Amino acid sequence: MGSEQPGSSRPLQRMEDLVALCARRGFVFPSSEIYGGINGFWDYGPLGVELKNNLKAAWWQAVVRERDDVEGIDSSIICHPRTWEASGHVEHFSDPMVDCRACKRRFRADQLDDAGPCPAREGSSEHDWTEPRRFNLMLQTRIGASEDASAIAYLRAETCQPIFNDFRRVREVARQQIPFGIAQIGKAFRNEINPRNFTFRSREFEQAELEFFCRDSERGRWFDHWLDERLRFHREIGLGAGHLRTRPHAPEELAHYSKRAVDIEFRFPFGWQEIEGIHDRGDFDLSRHSEFSGKDLAVTDPETKERYLPVVIETSVGVDRTCLALLCHAYEEEALPGGEARTLLRLHPRLAPIKVAVLPLSKKLAEPARRLAGELRRRWNVFYDEAGNIGRRYRRQDEAGTPFCVTVDFDSEADGKATVRERDSMQQDRVPLEAVAAYLADRLGPGG
Ligand code: ATP
Repeated sequence: MGSEQPGSSRPLQRMEDLVALCARRGFVFPSSEIYGGINGFWDYGPLGVELKNNLKAAWWQAVVRERDDVEGIDSSIICHPRTWEASGHVEHFSDPMVDCRACKRRFRADQLDDAGPCPAREGSSEHDWTEPRRFNLMLQTRIGASEDASAIAYLRAETCQPIFNDFRRVREVARQQIPFGIAQIGKAFRNEINPRNFTFRSREFEQAELEFFCRDSERGRWFDHWLDERLRFHREIGLGAGHLRTRPHAPEELAHYSKRAVDIEFRFPFGWQEIEGIHDRGDFDLSRHSEFSGKDLAVTDPETKERYLPVVIETSVGVDRTCLALLCHAYEEEALPGGEARTLLRLHPRLAPIKVAVLPLSKKLAEPARRLAGELRRRWNVFYDEAGNIGRRYRRQDEAGTPFCVTVDFDSEADGKATVRERDSMQQDRVPLEAVAAYLADRLGPGG
């Protein structure tokens, strides 16, 4: 099997390399690819869905399960249309858009630097822009058989509004007192004018959001708490090392009802960009939904009996954007001594789609190898592969981000041991077959 020697490595420089790896290995690729794709929509393949599920599970664990002051929900994607009037989305959720009269392409007015030269104008590469117009980003649909305006509904533009709709019932059924939070993970839809940078800006994406309800006098403390928690989360899943920073919003960027907002940004190959927002939303949402629904969403202070509307601290992270950050951060090309090279994803074991690959050196060793794989499968996502050159099989697992490979070889029968190879160091250990599960559990850690 021959030990491999680590060499010099370099991080991701061009997004094209990651996009190619994601398609080649089935992490993420264009939706409806056989029809030429559909702009702003992506499909996650066998490895991608595991990565995304692991990320969502880690978030749910940290934000919901490990706390007794947060409850989870899973709301419908389509809400009563009044929801989006109350939230201000029908009126205000729009981007300024301009068209080029010559090439007919459409851009966000604040992103014209990315438009490049106009391909349609002779003697000039300048676009012929229209005046900016507002373009509402909500995706509309119709419900039922009626064709009139009363049938119009919206695919939710963010996952938090249904949380406000459900606030009263969830508080009652969960018997929660202020302060407490409601969390959900789910799809959101925005008719983005220019989807771009791979999955970074998509038209359909997933968010993981927490709305934490507290007293006005405690909003600063809870804001700091959640900002710290969320930063810790991003570091724990492996982002960091000079790639994370916070960006407080300037007063003029804040919504009129907001006291404070901080973005958590990640350094992508295309620059520093937001992956999560922490927002102090005041009591705007609950007061608007009280007004529009006619239901009083105020709560009673158990001691003073005073009625008041709680204020909201929101944490809102993009699941797809964080997956993209994880992939960008994990990608590495390593030049090995002897002229060989490998591409690897140094994903945190907790996030890695496959935790362990079982690779018998020969098909003749399939029986003990399959037995071992069967045992490991009870705990982890295991990949089994008995075909081809072992070096090539290792490379395929490196590229998938698999932290461990276990090789059953011809000595295994005699000494009852297998070789466990670690992805990053490529170091190999001989481990008794019956101890492989415990060896991996030790190294993969809880949630691994
Ligand atoms: P941006 O300024 O990038 O459009 P935003 O400030 O509108 O983002 P929010 O409404 O605060 O974003 O949404 C919270 C999170 O949801 C973002 O931090 C991001 O991770 C994710 N998100 C928002 N829009 C998209 C999108 N079009 N594609 C993928 N993820 C998105």
